[in-house]
Amino acid sequence: MHKTKSENYFKRAKQLMPGGVNSPVRSFSAVGGAPLFIARAKGPYLHDEDGNRYVDFVASWGPLILGHSHPNVIKALKTASALGTSYGAPCKAEIDLASIVTGSFKSIDMVRMTNSGTEATMSAVRLARGYTGRDYIVKFEGCYHGHADYLLVKAGSGATTFGHPSSPGVPKSFTSKTLLAKYNDLDSVKKLFNKYGDQIAAIILEPVAGNMGVVTPEKGFLKGLRSITNKYKSLLIFDEVITGFRLSKGGAQQIFGVYPDLTCLGKIIGGGLPVGAYGGKKAIMKHIAPDGPVYQAGTLSGNPLAMAAGIATLKELANVSVYKKLEKTTVNFVGEINEIIKKLGINANINQIGSMFTLFFNSGKVCDYETALCSDTKIFSRFFKNLLSAGIMFPPSQFESVFISTAHTEKELNFALNSIHKALKDL
Ligand code: PLP
Repeated sequence: MHKTKSENYFKRAKQLMPGGVNSPVRSFSAVGGAPLFIARAKGPYLHDEDGNRYVDFVASWGPLILGHSHPNVIKALKTASALGTSYGAPCKAEIDLASIVTGSFKSIDMVRMTNSGTEATMSAVRLARGYTGRDYIVKFEGCYHGHADYLLVKAGSGATTFGHPSSPGVPKSFTSKTLLAKYNDLDSVKKLFNKYGDQIAAIILEPVAGNMGVVTPEKGFLKGLRSITNKYKSLLIFDEVITGFRLSKGGAQQIFGVYPDLTCLGKIIGGGLPVGAYGGKKAIMKHIAPDGPVYQAGTLSGNPLAMAAGIATLKELANVSVYKKLEKTTVNFVGEINEIIKKLGINANINQIGSMFTLFFNSGKVCDYETALCSDTKIFSRFFKNLLSAGIMFPPSQFESVFISTAHTEKELNFALNSIHKALKDL
């Protein structure tokens, strides 16, 4: 049978790179088949090496809230790259991006730029431990915070309190200070604090989870975490790598009115270039080197190209009407999908907030990791493949978020709705 260019490239890539990719989820291993090799991307569209066009709902896993190759981002990158690619010395663009971040997030007085979300969460946890002088951290089943050893804890078994490493290569002792709680279950957190409260440096969580599919915090959950951490003088860390500048200018914390001690950012603030950041109140941030003793550094941190792409992106998001419009578009889109699901009598439901959503092939409501795992991943794979062959790129996993960008117009969304209808009918 004739092989596509993507299939041939994938075969070659697998000889050169583990799984043929530089980040596992891209390999389509959750849905099967060869991933598309992308030649270029513009607005809402991805174009593969075989000349096919896809309406993209992955948005590079969140960063591209303006769609691909936004003219002002490209312009900023051209201007910045003509002036140099990295200085290894401070530059004004770092101040400009830091000002936008601190001006947008009420809980952030000072910020440190990193190169990825993983570095941001890893460094925020170090800072929390250094600041409090405590070792334990609490994380939630189903929340992903990048791949630092002690955050790579197997989520799933509610029976176990202590985290087990979910990857070979992570010594058991490295996760022995990571305590696991259940998302949307304050009692599971209280139990941990009753036992270890004065040794817990921080709770870290996605205030809106995006890595078990979209799961929103139930009423009182975030507020409850804020009270518990206040009571025990532990820090509250919001990992807003996905939700920062996605749900609102001030992230999920602004939407829910609960403010953490430290916030981790990434994705959108780099406009599609490698970036991460963590920030918080001055009194805590002053503990980072060189002001304080908690060490953290980066050869390319605050890189002028990443700063330029981030600034250009955040300028486009400065007007709150952008978020209102994105949300309205997404609510309408999801409403139409719900109608289709109902009409076809499919066992599925959607969790949506702002411009992110997940269609779970699940007969019950998804409110935590356990309920997310009840979804039918086999049906999801068929749905994904049906969509792909129709020219729609959804995330290649049941447990990821679909992202709507400002580049999706009625034309692409209507085309997507027709394709979704057919993809669901043909399951
Ligand atoms: N935190 C969250 C919530 C994420 O979704 C991710 C990545 O998807 C990370 C942290 C890690 O970010 P990065 O992949 O840039 O290291």
